[in-house]
Amino acid sequence: MNTIIEPFRIKSVEPIKLNSIKDRKENIKNADYNLFKLHAKDVIIDLLTDSGTGAMSTEQWAGIMRGDESYAGSNSYIRFEKIIKKYFGFDYVIPTHQGRAAERILFEVLCNKGDVVPSNSHFDTTRANIEFQGANAINLIPNKYNDTQSIYPFKGNMDIDQLKKIVKNKSNNIPIIMMTITNNTGGGQPVSLSNIREVSKIAKKYNIPFYIDACRFAENAYFIKTREKEFKNTSIVDIVKEMFSYADGCTMSAKKDGIANIGGFLCANDKELSKKEKELLILTEGFPTYGGLAGRDLEAVSIGITEAMDEDYLHYRISSTKYLGDKISKFGVPILLPPGGHAIYIDAKLFLKHIKKENFPAQALACELYIIGGIRTSEIGSLMFGKFNPIKKTNTYASYELVRLAIPRRTYTQSHIDYVVEIIKKVYLDRTIISGLEIVEQPEYLRHFSAKLRKI
Ligand SMILES: *Cc1c(COP(=O)(O)O)cnc(C)c1O
Repeated sequence: MNTIIEPFRIKSVEPIKLNSIKDRKENIKNADYNLFKLHAKDVIIDLLTDSGTGAMSTEQWAGIMRGDESYAGSNSYIRFEKIIKKYFGFDYVIPTHQGRAAERILFEVLCNKGDVVPSNSHFDTTRANIEFQGANAINLIPNKYNDTQSIYPFKGNMDIDQLKKIVKNKSNNIPIIMMTITNNTGGGQPVSLSNIREVSKIAKKYNIPFYIDACRFAENAYFIKTREKEFKNTSIVDIVKEMFSYADGCTMSAKKDGIANIGGFLCANDKELSKKEKELLILTEGFPTYGGLAGRDLEAVSIGITEAMDEDYLHYRISSTKYLGDKISKFGVPILLPPGGHAIYIDAKLFLKHIKKENFPAQALACELYIIGGIRTSEIGSLMFGKFNPIKKTNTYASYELVRLAIPRRTYTQSHIDYVVEIIKKVYLDRTIISGLEIVEQPEYLRHFSAKLRKI
């Protein structure tokens, strides 16, 4: 079958307010060419992020009503713990309000100044929480995967040779090895089960805890099933169980493959460690049977996790992301290949060859997509990762200039995506008239959230 049907019916709708190019030119100017400052009501198709933006199912809404709001020992927590233990297999399950809270607690307990934490690729909040403890977060992606145009089935895999070198070097203190599935920063690319096995073997040999950043565990499992021969006939649930069986714990943002609007958790097998983690949890998040969430949120997460592993849903999810990627690459738009699980990344360096990195080609493209079609995307390039040194008056730039089109789960239909394709095509054909941007004002940290820009 060529047509990918959405495996759900729509029961409740949220209107989209249409507006004109003239309105949008005004809106983006008022937002200082920063898409984070737009009002959501002025956006037609919002692809800023897939985090917390998915549509909940009838079962999840029913769970919301069932939520038990008891301060301690609520039924909602007992169900949540049971489901997470069943699929992830860890002994201790700590709820948190989102992924970064789990990260903050884990690294505060495990990391010290000067420690080294290797990963295939750390997500920004993971890196920030490691660096906040004075430790060094390092990415171990093989060089050949860094070319956006190269095609490999598991571009999220960790470089095993580099990992061996780092663990053998006695001057490194490594409190934990992390693995992000799928690799968000590197294009939503999956990690193979054989790579997870290899990393776990090294971690065991050197007695280092091995943790998975599990945000997109179900999407990763689907890629394993469809791309790793050994698992062709294995169910998603069994693949998920096997992936986590090699780890000592995990961090999770349930805003991704939990298909919930808020939530997360931290898991561990080490009793002493989980005791310390619970102490920190009580300090800032809440009692260990709710951890900063309402009972109803725990229900939404435990049901969402189960639904995310449904094979019909995953087939639709991964194929519809690929549909967008295939359509736009067919008429020449350079994208990060192969298409990822949760997002398509346009390579703006190749798309807007006439705009220098000093003038933020990816941000310029993201603004143009908003002006022409009301589509909101996010820049993953020099606005996000570059830095200005106010003393030396020098700039550093990112190695990539990408525009990410993140697809919220179960939220948009194929005709919404066809509209996105049409707008990208129009912008691509008119690309030579797009001008670059310059920064007028910027904060010292995380400048992409609040910087002011103007057209040159
Ligand atoms: C979103 C995300 C996080 C952080 O989760 P939050 O819920 O946003 O705090 C961590 N790692 C990865 C890979 C993510 O995508």
